[in-house]
Amino acid sequence: SRTSHIRNFSIIAHVDHGKSTLADRILENLGAMGERDKRDQTLDTLELERERGITIKSTPIRLQYTRADGEKYTFNLIDTPGHVDFNYEVSRSLAACEGVLLLVDASQGVEAQTIVNAYLAIDSNLEIIPVVNKIDLPAADPEGAAQELEDVIGIPAEDAVFASGKTGVGVPNILEAIVERIPPPAGDPDAPLKALIFDSFYDAYQGVILFIRVLEGTLKPKDKIMMFSNGKSFDVDKVGTFSPALVVGDELIAGSVGWVAASIKDIHDAQVGDTITGKENPTTEPFPGFKPAQPVVFSGLYPTDTEDYRKLREALEKLKLNDAAFSFEPETSEALGFGFRCGFLGLLHAEIIQERLEREYDLDLIATAPAVVYRVTLTNGEVFETQNPAEFPTRDRIQLVEEPYIKLSIMLPEDYVGTVMQLLQERRGVMQTMNYIGKRVELLYEVPFAEILYDFHDRLKSISRGYASMDYEQIGYRDGDLRKVDIMVNNEVIDALAVIVHETKTYGLGRKIVDKMAEVIPRQMFPVPVQAVIGGKIIARATVKAYRKDVLAKCYGGDITRKKKLLEKQKKGRARMKQFGTVEVPQEAFLAVLSTE
Ligand code: GDP
Ligand code: MG
Repeated sequence: SRTSHIRNFSIIAHVDHGKSTLADRILENLGAMGERDKRDQTLDTLELERERGITIKSTPIRLQYTRADGEKYTFNLIDTPGHVDFNYEVSRSLAACEGVLLLVDASQGVEAQTIVNAYLAIDSNLEIIPVVNKIDLPAADPEGAAQELEDVIGIPAEDAVFASGKTGVGVPNILEAIVERIPPPAGDPDAPLKALIFDSFYDAYQGVILFIRVLEGTLKPKDKIMMFSNGKSFDVDKVGTFSPALVVGDELIAGSVGWVAASIKDIHDAQVGDTITGKENPTTEPFPGFKPAQPVVFSGLYPTDTEDYRKLREALEKLKLNDAAFSFEPETSEALGFGFRCGFLGLLHAEIIQERLEREYDLDLIATAPAVVYRVTLTNGEVFETQNPAEFPTRDRIQLVEEPYIKLSIMLPEDYVGTVMQLLQERRGVMQTMNYIGKRVELLYEVPFAEILYDFHDRLKSISRGYASMDYEQIGYRDGDLRKVDIMVNNEVIDALAVIVHETKTYGLGRKIVDKMAEVIPRQMFPVPVQAVIGGKIIARATVKAYRKDVLAKCYGGDITRKKKLLEKQKKGRARMKQFGTVEVPQEAFLAVLSTE
């Protein structure tokens, strides 16, 4: 058939197990990296991605492989995001493939994301090629890592390919395994069109560019296409493939991976996971499992300078053009004025958006502590969802509160099981199962999402000396005895500082927040009280002490350059403060709830 020489695959791995390095080495082996654009980690394109070493967009690339016998193959390598915030995108990218390379670092063995990613691949019925990577490391134990894959996931150890993305050893074997083990795509080019959207981005000239996998049928310019989820139709302008730059082509047939431009103005009309079909002769069944993008973490974003409100709105609109998973709506805070309530897929997504607003749009922002979405049933029977702690009703009006839960999977050496279980208990986790894998353990817990949102990952890493790894998925809502804690500064409630917390934790958290705030609020001529309050009752109190004269004197002595530096630092610091009467509250104070104890 026309697709017998196509192989669509992805590389999946735990973070840092060498996915980007191996992808680059494969590109280099197949001559896809000219000396000119040869640089590390070609597939990680956004500046932020490169800096943080994560992949946010599912960049695909088309490669040509010629076997020793002269047979030519087309490889479509689809990169997947490397963070749990984007796991839905990972599953969609995998659905565009027939196989995966499952990498395991030969010195680390199987980690939490190795398992979760492997199951995503198994759920999509993909052929898995186990690759034990980084075998050049002195601490490598390739046989041990291969055996772990067999013990944990059931992939025969003898199937493993040993390789190093760094030295390139084993890469030719990987290329051969791709041809031999991954099946070519099936699908009838003459059937009605059915194509899966696995990523998209907004282009100012061509509108939304969709990254698609054609499952059935053929797609050409001038075709009329329709989105399965919402019935909206568009005329195809161009189709093509990836080099990884967009290359214009004549058509995309069943089995191929490529892009389509159809003058789509709104990215929300063409969401990841949706199915494209023909308007005239539509397919009967969409590709299963489509979920519209749904933010799960919310935070208020306010300009430190109220003059910047318009500028912030414009920046948010631009970012939203390119990101269907990001949402925002206007919000007013008594304390912070006019701003926006923004929705994200997780904390990393939130950080990325905030960083882009500050860097690319030159905005200074105050961000309120991220919160999950609570479902509240009032005593009058009314049910509503709230992501803003400031809006949380008082206790007498509440019949029931529910909060989102996750299934959390943790891999760790058995020595740390006791401490980690204790941490999970503190986080209201309920153990589901515990599996021994040699000297390591996999723990499966159900935990309130809010409990792992802030500092959980850092705490887990520190109590396990870096050895524990984790991954999670959302599993729906459960009852919770939750309360709203208000924070008062200088005897006034600052609405934007309110947090929702479990009944058993109100005192501890109140204490932590007021202590942190007292530490970061600049001193005044007079002492400033900071209090945590529940329903009018003070549960914790701290004081920002008044200045001592000698502190000032010390600051302003010294040489001129030091003085200048100090002034600059103060100017910068001021930009990220909010004035309440005479008291300035810095950004750090708004995130006091996130600080680790
Ligand atoms: P990713 O997070 O899975 O994309 O991992 P990267 O490709 O960014 O690699 C993570 C780290 O491991 C980097 O410091 C790489 O230089 C290093 N690394 C990747 N592959 C190898 C390898 O085969 N051998 C050795 N020694 N180091 C490697
Ligand atoms: Mg990477």
